[in-house]
Amino acid sequence: MAKILMMRATCNTNLYLSYAAPLSPQKAMSMCPSFYPVQFGAKPISCSPIKPQFCVQVQAFSSQQSKDELPARVGFLGLGIMGSPMAQNLIKAGCDVTVWNRTKSKCDPLISLGAKYKPSPEEVAASCDITFAMLADPESAVDVACGKQGAASGMSPGKGYVDVSTVDGPTSSLISARIQSTGALFLEAPVSGSKKPAEDGKLIFLTAGDKSLYERAAPYLDLMGKSRFFLGEVGNGAAMKLVVNMIMGSMMASFSEGLLLSEKVGLDPSILVEVISQGAISAPMYSMKGPSMVKSLYPTAFPLKHQQKDLRLALGLAESVSQPTPVAAAANELYKVAKSKGLSDDDFSAVIEALKAKLQQKS
Ligand code: NAP
Repeated sequence: MAKILMMRATCNTNLYLSYAAPLSPQKAMSMCPSFYPVQFGAKPISCSPIKPQFCVQVQAFSSQQSKDELPARVGFLGLGIMGSPMAQNLIKAGCDVTVWNRTKSKCDPLISLGAKYKPSPEEVAASCDITFAMLADPESAVDVACGKQGAASGMSPGKGYVDVSTVDGPTSSLISARIQSTGALFLEAPVSGSKKPAEDGKLIFLTAGDKSLYERAAPYLDLMGKSRFFLGEVGNGAAMKLVVNMIMGSMMASFSEGLLLSEKVGLDPSILVEVISQGAISAPMYSMKGPSMVKSLYPTAFPLKHQQKDLRLALGLAESVSQPTPVAAAANELYKVAKSKGLSDDDFSAVIEALKAKLQQKS
């Protein structure tokens, strides 16, 4: 089934290219304005070897692709809150998917949908053309890629490894070097978007690394996401993701303070959520999380421990370029308090409980 792709080449003149005719993803990619190299900014964002060079955004509309257009065997490592629905979307689209997860039971629902199973990342990588990995943090991402029976042991020339976990640039570079040492290709592709966008195939991929693997992986990214950015060298995707989540973590901490303050001065925090939704600081996150936060409910979409990890990594990124980030640093402290109160596996909106605990200490 053909896909209609609208592509936007982000450049100084903000050139928009639209292809109204239905195209196969492969055809569309061959016309992709990735051939419009674009300066990312006047100054590098890091003094490390990471240099932003290109920014190409592609938005994908519609979701159906035929099996014929997806010839590769696809591996998926890490089936948590994000990995499971992402792999499920590939299976539902007819892809030949092989899965692995540390806790094997999480593979079972996907196996019942038609996925194959291999007992180690090495065996998944050895049996697949492209292997995706969605792991918790830098440690697990390195372990699964580079450890004993890790994916790298199963990689060889012609294969590709796409790490969609949120990690820092140095970790991504380490994994990239190990994968490339086997002759295989590497792409980092952390995602913006949470559980629901993962289920709906509406994630935003922030990719960097090998351009030819980006193009090969594009049809699969489009089954899992609504848009993708190619940001140049390895580390740029990780940095973009950390900046986004640094902002998000601070926004949630500030929102929590506002909800509690409104209540303390006798206002209805539900009305505050409504007021915010109609004004300039409206954000889907506030409308989505606000009503349950008012009821002290935190159903996990983005675990609080991962938000704190992202703030920690973002602060490290800022430190590497001597960039002051006092707001994010303060927010990070609050998430650390929340973790110490046993809220690690709750949604990150449970950070409000850390403020409640502080209020109780004072009264
Ligand atoms: P999650 O539900 O906690 O899943 C984490 C995955 O990593 C699980 O498959 C887990 O395996 C695996 N894992 C953890 N430690 C491991 C280790 N030492 N060795 C092997 N596997 C290990 O997390 P998630 O929400 O899916 O997030 C995954 C990544 O995406 C994180 O980097 C997160 O920051 C990022 N992210 C999350 C969201 C979100 O809204 N949830 C949004 C964007 C990005 P087990 O099942 O065995 O524990």
